[in-house]
Amino acid sequence: MSELNKEIKYLKGVGEARARLFKKLGVVTLRDLLRYFPRDYEDRTVFKKIAELSDGESVTVRAVASDSPRLSRTPRGRELALLRVYDDTGMMDVRFFNQSYVKDAISAGGTYLFYGKILRAGGSALMTNPVFERDGDGSSVKIGRVTPIYRMTAGLNMRSVSNTVALALKLCGDAPPDALPHSVRKEYGLAAARFAYENIHFPKDFESLKIARRRLIFEDLFVLSVTARRRRAERGSSSGQAIISEGFGEFYSALPFEPTAAQKRAVDEAARDLASGGVMARMLQGDVGSGKTLVAAALAWTVAKNGFQTAFMAPTELLAEQHFRTFEEFLSPLGVRVGRLTGSLGVKAKRLAREALVSGETDVIVGTHALLSEGVDFRALALVITDEQHRFGVSQRAALGQKGESPHVLVMSATPIPRTLALILYGDLDVSELNELPPGRKSVMTYSAGERLRRRIYDFARRLVSEGRQVYFVCPAVEEIDTIERPASPGGDGIEIARSPGTGDSELKRAREYAKQLQTEIFPELSVGLVHGSMKPREKDAAMASFISGETDILVATTVIEVGVDVPNAALIVIENADRFGLSQLHQLRGRVGRGEHQSYCVLMRGADGEKSRERLDILRGTNDGFEIAEADLRQRGPGDFFGSRQHGIPASRFIEQGAEAGTIWDARSAADTVLARDPGLKLRENRALREAVDAIFLASDGTFN
Ligand code: ADP
Ligand code: MG
Repeated sequence: MSELNKEIKYLKGVGEARARLFKKLGVVTLRDLLRYFPRDYEDRTVFKKIAELSDGESVTVRAVASDSPRLSRTPRGRELALLRVYDDTGMMDVRFFNQSYVKDAISAGGTYLFYGKILRAGGSALMTNPVFERDGDGSSVKIGRVTPIYRMTAGLNMRSVSNTVALALKLCGDAPPDALPHSVRKEYGLAAARFAYENIHFPKDFESLKIARRRLIFEDLFVLSVTARRRRAERGSSSGQAIISEGFGEFYSALPFEPTAAQKRAVDEAARDLASGGVMARMLQGDVGSGKTLVAAALAWTVAKNGFQTAFMAPTELLAEQHFRTFEEFLSPLGVRVGRLTGSLGVKAKRLAREALVSGETDVIVGTHALLSEGVDFRALALVITDEQHRFGVSQRAALGQKGESPHVLVMSATPIPRTLALILYGDLDVSELNELPPGRKSVMTYSAGERLRRRIYDFARRLVSEGRQVYFVCPAVEEIDTIERPASPGGDGIEIARSPGTGDSELKRAREYAKQLQTEIFPELSVGLVHGSMKPREKDAAMASFISGETDILVATTVIEVGVDVPNAALIVIENADRFGLSQLHQLRGRVGRGEHQSYCVLMRGADGEKSRERLDILRGTNDGFEIAEADLRQRGPGDFFGSRQHGIPASRFIEQGAEAGTIWDARSAADTVLARDPGLKLRENRALREAVDAIFLASDGTFN
């Protein structure tokens, strides 16, 4: 066990410098390293003849070099090595950029294996920067197998990660991390830990990889289930501040509208918890636009009437500002004093906000994680509400909880987590669901469109604006840092990181350029605004305020508007490159419109891969039900979106991204029930490792729930 907690900087051949790079990837200990799962695999086992190659595929080709590589320079100064190779069916061109060493590594007449992506135009085939090795020297390491691809950081390369992982595997021997009791493993037919770790990193074949993956996913889900159950059991015994409500009539009648039955029900459920003498830990789940804010405000109101304070934490400045306005609107007329505390406030305003909290002058404070800062103290904090709670890390939420004496907690989420997953992630929370939208909402009409229709969409936007409506244009998501592997040079590691063109600032740049283009070329007569994540909070506020007031007709935005933003007059959202987004994310974005009485529209611009993306996007056209969409997303992409490490404190679960079926989730859950029924305190020997794993999560979250 202790071996696994050893820091990798002490491993042979790793050292301080490299360990620092690993740390950037979240890898500090041997255990982290073993659980640093590949983000993908390349199938280098498929061989093809040159004549059979088709455009875009990644394959291995066995071919003879007809000459040794010729060196030259591109006009932009890059070194270029060109090579022609052949087999008994045809010729292929191979080119290498900035790898002049290939001149010596490849000699005329030799047979080599080349693995890479094919570019085929007409009769000729081309491979750029392939991985290669000499054929038949028996030492094939790079080709002819399923190869792990790890997420990288500059300075590390694929080979050094691979080698370090291999070393770790060797060191841990027969004792890799293993929280699965033997009985569970047997009952569900799961692979041994050793097999799983070996094959997740260095799969023998795809079948073994599948078996390994199933086991590891099961284990994570199982540990999460057990943790949730135990948290719930522990909480049952703690006592909280009793908040007594005498009905919500006064609050409801001050509202500009009639609350829905679902809103009333959720308020009542939470009010019962608050009055119970125990500590409320409730999740309020409701699809976008279902009106969760009202429920939060009702509870804050009753808490204030009892002489206690409420902290409401939103994940972004944008949302905090919006919620502040809403809370003021709902609560100020009732004599509840609402304050705000966000990072963008000036020093003095911050100080005043803090003072008002300590003195008890403020009843409800709305803010961002600035609420968590040192020096933010409450006179009598009794309720903590977090909005869009999946955006917060475990420790952040825990920190807010520490500011009072076991305050009641309400977490609100619009991310429609599939029910099965919710049971695991939030198995320790009571759940209220807003399963009903406020009346009078027309469902958003959704279309997917190709480039051909672009003009018409612009015209449509123009028409809506002329009718007094407003429009969002959402820009592409940030591209991931891409890694490509280059063949190793004889001396060095040779494998480098390439940043795809869309990394870093380019999201920003694209949004800016796009806004400019829309303003100058497409909608010169309208007012086009821009909001993106890298703006200063104050600029963001200004951009939003101008959109809310109707001064701006068209708002170009990145996904910063994804959650919660509420502008009922917006009636059209156009999402560029919609296929880059997950379905649930698209559903969230779509939720920015259809929030008022106007018929609203969502246009999903399809990117390049036509048919496939159309099929996927059709799911959105088919339903407005966030849960249905989430289930479809889960089927298609796996639960990665829901299982970000931020959520539950198990850093290595990243790789669950690659898919767990609902069946596995249920199995893991019932296995957890079985084990806990037999051994509630996890005291049995066979559950010892499990208990350690569970304790580790507890520790990471300060003993607070999710
Ligand atoms: P979400 O659940 O997505 O956070 P909000 O709380 O932002 O939803 O509410 C969405 C919109 O619906 C807001 O403009 C809000 O004022 C409005 N709303 C909330 N409840 C009702 C209701 N019962 N009747 C009419 N409109 C409502
Ligand atoms: Mg909301």
